[in-house]
Amino acid sequence: MVACYRNGKIVATIGPASCSEENLEKLFKNGVDVFRLNFSHGSHDGHARVYDAIRSIGKKFGCYPTVLADLQGPKLRVGTFAQDRIELKSGDIFRFDLDSASGNDDRVTLPHPEIFEALQAGTLLLLDDGKLRLEVIDCGKDFAKVNVLVGGFLSNRKGVNVPQVMLKIPALTEKDLKDLDFVLNLGVDWVALSFVQSVEDVENAKNIIGGRAGVVSKLEKPLAISALEPVVDASDAIMIARGDLAVETSHEDVPILQRRIINACHRLGKPVIVATQMLESMIIAPTPTRAEISDVATAVYSGADATMLSEESASGRYPLEAVSIMASVILRVEGDPNCIRCLEDDTQLPICTTLDAICAAAKTAVEYSGAAVLVLCTDSFDAVVRCSRLRPRVPILLMTESKSLAYRAGLCNGINAMVAKKESSSDMLIKSAKIVVQEKQFAQSGDIIVVLYVGTEISVTVCQV
Ligand code: PGA
Ligand code: MN
Repeated sequence: MVACYRNGKIVATIGPASCSEENLEKLFKNGVDVFRLNFSHGSHDGHARVYDAIRSIGKKFGCYPTVLADLQGPKLRVGTFAQDRIELKSGDIFRFDLDSASGNDDRVTLPHPEIFEALQAGTLLLLDDGKLRLEVIDCGKDFAKVNVLVGGFLSNRKGVNVPQVMLKIPALTEKDLKDLDFVLNLGVDWVALSFVQSVEDVENAKNIIGGRAGVVSKLEKPLAISALEPVVDASDAIMIARGDLAVETSHEDVPILQRRIINACHRLGKPVIVATQMLESMIIAPTPTRAEISDVATAVYSGADATMLSEESASGRYPLEAVSIMASVILRVEGDPNCIRCLEDDTQLPICTTLDAICAAAKTAVEYSGAAVLVLCTDSFDAVVRCSRLRPRVPILLMTESKSLAYRAGLCNGINAMVAKKESSSDMLIKSAKIVVQEKQFAQSGDIIVVLYVGTEISVTVCQV
């Protein structure tokens, strides 16, 4: 029997609705490939418990579920109000300052001196996910006087976005540095950086991380978009963080940016996650809307490696259903013969390396031979992403000696990882690949398989099981 393998990966954010051992196992069984620990919430102890539970589940099922730690980054917030909230009406004049006294109808603390440094008359400030829009009319090093363009209620510690302006704030805050140290000691596979503004932000983080985890840059600032190719190139993977991205650009820009980012990631061979509000209505309802299903499908058609659940799985009422529905939509789209054609039409010319040439040869071998599976034997993450990027029509079975690669590869489209010890010769390798593909139900006796070996040498073998 040959099992049905899904190529598109599911990232699920873990929170109160999903953090028990029992629920984590259910999420895994329903199809979660990557577990996202969100460091905007939760304690180190709590995250450590979730991490341990995920690792035990992996051991129990002989699989390599991936763990992604998402750092909060420089999320800017206003201070608090004496009355907890105020109402601003359009045309009102309001003031932000560094005074720590409680806020009122006229002013509130904005405890980030770096913002005041970067403001000018005319700068736009967005509050509470962009619901309120304010324009700076006067400012100094410790205050800003603003005119309310779009009003609304403003309550304690609501978020502030300053699109278009380069803030002199490092992508890693003091809290992030502590969290980073913690997650690297835990042993997470990926670290996500929030509000990346430049290549420098990515490189600084990479210097600290030193290869102990892969780096996902979250694209949610217009400045990162204006340096799109260099930022993608500097990162190990990308998340299209549509929540803040919509606030910082505009809602109608997001679908266009989503396509542009996915194409850039394909060109450069970086895994890409589409995130936020994918099945949003499932936070409170057991079924999604047609539009949400279509959103997941569109992400798959345009070639995302992974789609993400946020509140749906972290704090919603139907985390398991959300995962199952996402899995079935992905599988269904992947079953559409037009899916690959769409991808091939869409993907612009790749940046080619020798590795790409070899992976393309393996993909061609799969197509010409009608192989059931592509077995990739390597310890190189580069080989994994280059192979995954070409989206062969069959699943990729990664056989690696490296446990950390097996875990990290879980984010990449089409990759199914297993750890195997190195074979002494290529004959032995082929022999063992033939056994494993049957055990794992990728192929049955009589099927053709393609084995791509990328190590000290490189080889492509087409053989019959
Ligand atoms: P967040 O990132 O959920 O950490 O804010 C995703 C987004 O902004 O879309
Ligand atoms: Mn965000």
